[in-house]
Amino acid sequence: MPLVPAKCTNCGAALELDPSKDAAVCPYCHTPFVVEKAINNYMDGGESADTVIAQGDAWLNMGNTGEAAVCYRRATEKFPSDYRGWRGLLMVELRVTTVLQDDKVEARRPAVSMYSNQALALAPASEKPAIQKARRDYFQRLYQVLEKKRDSVRRELEDMERQAAITGSESLKWELPKLREKLQEAQFRLEVIGREL
Ligand SMILES: [Zn+2]
Repeated sequence: MPLVPAKCTNCGAALELDPSKDAAVCPYCHTPFVVEKAINNYMDGGESADTVIAQGDAWLNMGNTGEAAVCYRRATEKFPSDYRGWRGLLMVELRVTTVLQDDKVEARRPAVSMYSNQALALAPASEKPAIQKARRDYFQRLYQVLEKKRDSVRRELEDMERQAAITGSESLKWELPKLREKLQEAQFRLEVIGREL
């Protein structure tokens, strides 16, 4: 098997490796590494977690959430046990959802949950409060959105009840149970999110 260029995942030394092997030890820093990772490390230009995350932070500071997300996603792919990539993705979600239309906020919930769970599981204790706060900020926003939705269903129901009482319309009476069910569902979803706060 011909040797291919690689870069030690620990010290960054230039190496030539047999790609058919699973693991090897760096002759310079004597650290064992996964051959595939060292080869990828060479192809990626030996980019470190610090570099990718600093790039993401810089984009986020400039307000470019799209480019920031690309960097943080690359960080979570290459360095999945580094909490900063996950935290970055969470911060992007937070930034995006604050300007998102009300009806689009709920769709971000699985992403926010996943990124915050990963970040919280990996982050040192000192970093956890900030991550928890970001997560709570999102759920607060979602709570407000769902509260508005519930209130509008409630108003709709009250209007219809009033009309049904005045007109005695049979078709309106048939509509009422459906709307009551819709209100119950809206209330239930609100309570579920309330537990996350
Ligand atoms: Zn090395």
